[in-house]
Amino acid sequence: MYFLGIDIGSVASKVCIIDAEKNIIAQKVLGIGSGSSGPQRAFNDTLAAGCLKDSDIKYTVATGYGRLNYAADREISEISCQARAIHYLFQEVRTIIDIGGQDAKVIRINERGQVQNFVMNEKCAAGTGRFLEVMARALEYQLSDMESIALMATKKTPISSICTVFAESEVISHLAAGEKTSNIVAGINRAIAVRVASLSMRLDITREVVLTGGVAQNKGILNELQDILNVPIVAPENPQLTGALGAALYALEYYLKEKQR
Ligand code: ADP
Repeated sequence: MYFLGIDIGSVASKVCIIDAEKNIIAQKVLGIGSGSSGPQRAFNDTLAAGCLKDSDIKYTVATGYGRLNYAADREISEISCQARAIHYLFQEVRTIIDIGGQDAKVIRINERGQVQNFVMNEKCAAGTGRFLEVMARALEYQLSDMESIALMATKKTPISSICTVFAESEVISHLAAGEKTSNIVAGINRAIAVRVASLSMRLDITREVVLTGGVAQNKGILNELQDILNVPIVAPENPQLTGALGAALYALEYYLKEKQR
């Protein structure tokens, strides 16, 4: 018996399959989000990775931005799914900072993993993966190279514009002025962290703190956030997959509840 969580985000589809003992059997991230064949392909790829077939999946929970367009047994908000997964992975955590493709969220949970409060930035690309993508493109780097490039920085070139479009022009001006690209990348990391930190300050940051979402793969941004918020922050091994893991944990829970009825 297997249970599937699918997190259909703005830029990526993530799937996680667990067994009845909550062991992760297979998980995949596909860089195509909602509104396309991404979710179905991510589903097929994850089944194949686990050597499973459709009928092995007893219950499916969909979460994320595109969850309502997917035929699952149940849909659950991404905030609840993140809380569920993080409480399962790190019992002591009380604050989750999630930086995804087009939004950033700060979620406070209690000792039972229940959501107590959250704040969200979904109006502006600053402080999201979109900002990082735009800057990486302006610098002609792959997203996955940005972390190691920042390590060569000797300073952080200030990026003062909050607006992504103006910040991109600023980055191009710094390049034209001969600034070291590693310094610019370090400045970009700082700019994202400042933006997310200002969102976090609308809630009390309570220890322990975990960073999730695709952007959490960049340790430079995690370190900048740690520096600004002055709290230790950890990232799960697969920070982009925690929403899907939480959905899979809910799938198991609802399957057991419905079976008892
Ligand atoms: P969503 O749920 O909105 O689709 P995700 O949490 O899946 O968002 O994160 C997607 C974002 O992760 C992308 O916008 C991209 O900017 C970012 N991302 C992907 N890979 C990396 C990486 N190696 N380093 C930093 N950011 C990354």
